[in-house]
Amino acid sequence: MKQLNQIYINGEFVTPHGTRTLDLLSPVTNEKVAQVTLGDEVDTQNAIVAAKKAFKTFSQTSKEERIGYLEKMHEILKRRRQNLIDVMIDEYGCPLYFTTSLIDLAVDDFKIMAQLLKDFDLEPKVGHSRVRLQGVGVVGVIIPWNSSNGFIATKVSAAIAAGCTCVIKPSEFSAQQTQLMTECFHEAGLPRGVVNFVNGTGDVVGAEMTRNPGITKITFTGSTGVGKIIAKGAVESMKRVTLELGGKSPNIILEDADFATAIPQAILAAYINSGQACVAATRLLVPENRLSEVNELAKAAIAGTVKVGNPKDADTIIGPMVNQKQFERVQDYIRIGIEEGAALLTGGTGKPTGLEAGNFVKATIFTNVKNSMRIAQEEIFGPVLSIIPYKDEADAIAIANDSPYGLAAYITAGDKARAYRIANQLDAGRVCINGEFHDPLAPFGGFKQSGYGREFGVFGLETYLEPKAIIG
Ligand code: NAD
Repeated sequence: MKQLNQIYINGEFVTPHGTRTLDLLSPVTNEKVAQVTLGDEVDTQNAIVAAKKAFKTFSQTSKEERIGYLEKMHEILKRRRQNLIDVMIDEYGCPLYFTTSLIDLAVDDFKIMAQLLKDFDLEPKVGHSRVRLQGVGVVGVIIPWNSSNGFIATKVSAAIAAGCTCVIKPSEFSAQQTQLMTECFHEAGLPRGVVNFVNGTGDVVGAEMTRNPGITKITFTGSTGVGKIIAKGAVESMKRVTLELGGKSPNIILEDADFATAIPQAILAAYINSGQACVAATRLLVPENRLSEVNELAKAAIAGTVKVGNPKDADTIIGPMVNQKQFERVQDYIRIGIEEGAALLTGGTGKPTGLEAGNFVKATIFTNVKNSMRIAQEEIFGPVLSIIPYKDEADAIAIANDSPYGLAAYITAGDKARAYRIANQLDAGRVCINGEFHDPLAPFGGFKQSGYGREFGVFGLETYLEPKAIIG
């Protein structure tokens, strides 16, 4: 059994002051595989002091120096790609096909940010002033378990590009993935204190980061509930805050789409990352007069292509839920859907046969769902899809926007011009047409309760910079 009993402060692996431990269980077998020692407030304060000290000099480094560190990190991550994939599957249970694409994006984040920084003007002339865009300060990075090293790569690459220093608090359930990422940063030879990692729980380490005035900005990915706690706490010391929160993304299938390909694709879009994805397309909006055809296609797709099983298998679409708590949460929502009167098309409560040891959930689809039902309004974060019929285009847009969330939306259409017109009317930070896409240079973030601020590309980099106008 692995012991993860060190955190990383001021360029060194150190024993934390905190002594509480947490057992890490395999999501596939629920056997204990590791134990992590959790940091506490003192560890968090030590990390903040180190990051604050490092900021004094790191914020003054040249663009070229920071590009050098980003390129070095890219090289190291590229070399350790397979280790990053393996540990993510073992610890979190993400299926191989999806893990591979997430890790490749994480590796590329550093290269893309280096390239972007080369062409980015940090001292533009505006009016008759020179505007100096300087690093905002010490950045607190607080993230969930569903793409731990991916989030670190996106956020910390932008922070380094801006000349910021970081205190990173990953989810306590990601300690093995964190250990590997920490080793990569250590190998990159960044100046001491630029990057610090503290394992720990949100109510201890996350809360200290939120209230400590030594942190200037918090970049958070996680649930809307915790995002609100952080935003409220952060305002006390006027921290800048970027919040990437939950979603309940609509996927509108227009009547001129090719349903035979669109419906199986829509199911895969709902089940990305085993449904534990903020951008999962969990509300499938279809013309009401085609509902029975959609139901048949959906059932056939589940039977033919959606394998629930060992995340190491190349053909697995749905792996286990990250832990038993998450498994129970998804079970509760399936029960809620049944109680609300939604028609269960496939799946349901309980574990799939042969997979009883792990946190596996059946691929579940409810059909003829009303958008007012809780299963259509609330984020489930598991492989549960709601098929919602609409009357006409205006109704589809109204249903899509009738959500507290606004992270992503999807449209499948024969007539692309019509899809663009509809995209303009959707309340979502990202709209994908005829597929699921990621563009690492395009802004990513949410409308409404999906958060505020943007990540990736120039939009992301700017949130780590503070503009100073120098006039005269
Ligand atoms: P969570 O909000 O419970 O936890 C996220 C992080 O916040 C963890 O590191 C946790 O320890 C920390 N935290 C918890 N309480 C805290 C507090 N009081 N103060 C400071 N930090 C605290 O989320 P989760 O269950 O780990 O992850 C699932 C959620 O993340 C879902 O809601 C999902 O939609 C969201 N998510 C959003 C995006 C996005 O980019 N928009 C991406 C992935 C996941």
